[in-house]
Amino acid sequence: MRTIHGIPIWAKILLVTIVLVIIFLYTLLYILSDASDTCTCNEGCSEKGEIGKGTWNLLHEIVKHNEATEENNFHLAIFIESLSHIYPCEECRKHMREFRESTMKEEKMPEMTELWMCNFHNTVNERLGKELYNCDEFIPS
Ligand SMILES: Cc1cc2nc3c(=O)[nH]c(=O)nc-3n(C[C@H](O)[C@H](O)[C@H](O)COP(=O)(O)OP(=O)(O)OC[C@H]3O[C@@H](n4cnc5c(N)ncnc54)[C@H](O)[C@@H]3O)c2cc1C
Repeated sequence: MRTIHGIPIWAKILLVTIVLVIIFLYTLLYILSDASDTCTCNEGCSEKGEIGKGTWNLLHEIVKHNEATEENNFHLAIFIESLSHIYPCEECRKHMREFRESTMKEEKMPEMTELWMCNFHNTVNERLGKELYNCDEFIPS
């Protein structure tokens, strides 16, 4: 019987076939599992959507129930700053930092109103190719 390094050829072919089947099944499983989430984060990928929803809910509720006073703006800015370091999604953290740097570079902190949060959320929606939310309802009359 023909052998390579003492291993029969049929055994080698079988081994290669098994490896290829495993790679194929793994790829198929990956594509079917959550391709729509186009996950590129390193941590907590499978929960990214749920964590995102919960976090947005919290952020919108915070601005809804707190006046945009200087003190509250300061606390919220620190909160977002902290989130941009510990949020369990690398890609999201990067975008949070970019947004924070672009909107908080002026000396005066922006007024963190429902309108501000809605626009913040829309920048993420836009980047993810999602429909933009109509923020007009938050424009003070
Ligand atoms: C700060 C932050 C940054 C993120 N960055 C990324 C990222 O870089 N990549 C990534 O894949 N995911 C990111 N996420 C998660 C992402 O934004 C979504 O939360 C996740 O994709 C789930 O989306 P969803 O369609 O269920 O609705 P979500 O975007 O979670 O929104 C929840 C609900 O809020 C309402 N809503 C939507 N837009 C607005 C708005 N502008 N104003 C008010 N209400 C609104 C809608 O009713 C919606 O159903 C981030 C989340 C946060 C909190």
